[in-house]
Amino acid sequence: MATKSRAPPANLLLEALPVADRERLTADHAPVDLVFSETLSEPGERIRHVYFPIDSFVSLIAPGQGRAQLEIGLVGNEGMLGVPLLLGVNLSPLRALVQGAGHAWRVSTATFLRELESSTTLRAALNRYLYVFLAQTLQTATCARFHPVEARLARWLLMTRDRAHSSQFQITQEFLAYMLGVRRMGVTGAASALQRRNLIRYSRGAMSILNVRGLEAVACACYKIDKKIYARTIRSKGGESGAASGAPRRAYGTADSGNLQGCAEPAHCN
Ligand SMILES: [Zn+2]
Repeated sequence: MATKSRAPPANLLLEALPVADRERLTADHAPVDLVFSETLSEPGERIRHVYFPIDSFVSLIAPGQGRAQLEIGLVGNEGMLGVPLLLGVNLSPLRALVQGAGHAWRVSTATFLRELESSTTLRAALNRYLYVFLAQTLQTATCARFHPVEARLARWLLMTRDRAHSSQFQITQEFLAYMLGVRRMGVTGAASALQRRNLIRYSRGAMSILNVRGLEAVACACYKIDKKIYARTIRSKGGESGAASGAPRRAYGTADSGNLQGCAEPAHCN
């Protein structure tokens, strides 16, 4: 659904793995196309594949009654789908819904578990992502309970921009309300406020982010906390974390914004 403006990126989690692990995991596979609004898993279903998005991104939605559901995660090329397998559980607790069409590496559960069993470096690397996933999920729970809709909407738009690799994407207000777990009227008011400040332009489902820095200033701190957790935890290709080695870190934001160097709230980014 997003308009791609750059060449497809790699999956940063795969890139951070030792070369041998990455090659064993992807050797017999080719990237697959994920289609917008495709459901990859339902709560309680067995996990058949692990996905490493490349230029696609996927919403993770906690089940509720009727439309009372809440997005608790957005996975793009910084992460993977299939985290319960790292804990020895082959069941999905969440609905995984493709929100940005594009490519992803797809690995069968059997292959994934076999490689996990045979490589301590792979298991260690992906356990670090498991920590990131849990920490970000906890952050989202706090966000949904305590942060105002406008700040949450700004955070969500920035997260989507990072994963869509574009400042333009398609989204309806109804879907936004669904994702944020609020009434449509609340999303309409928040989107109008952002538009009046020339931070976004929104018309007939077409969203354009006009001022990334301005939107970052409005977003709740959760957006940068998520990035900080990731940058501190995911090891770089050289086998050391960027924080420990002092090497440049590859934040999962795009180059012109959203990286830690551009953090407007140093307390959250150092
Ligand atoms: Zn928040």
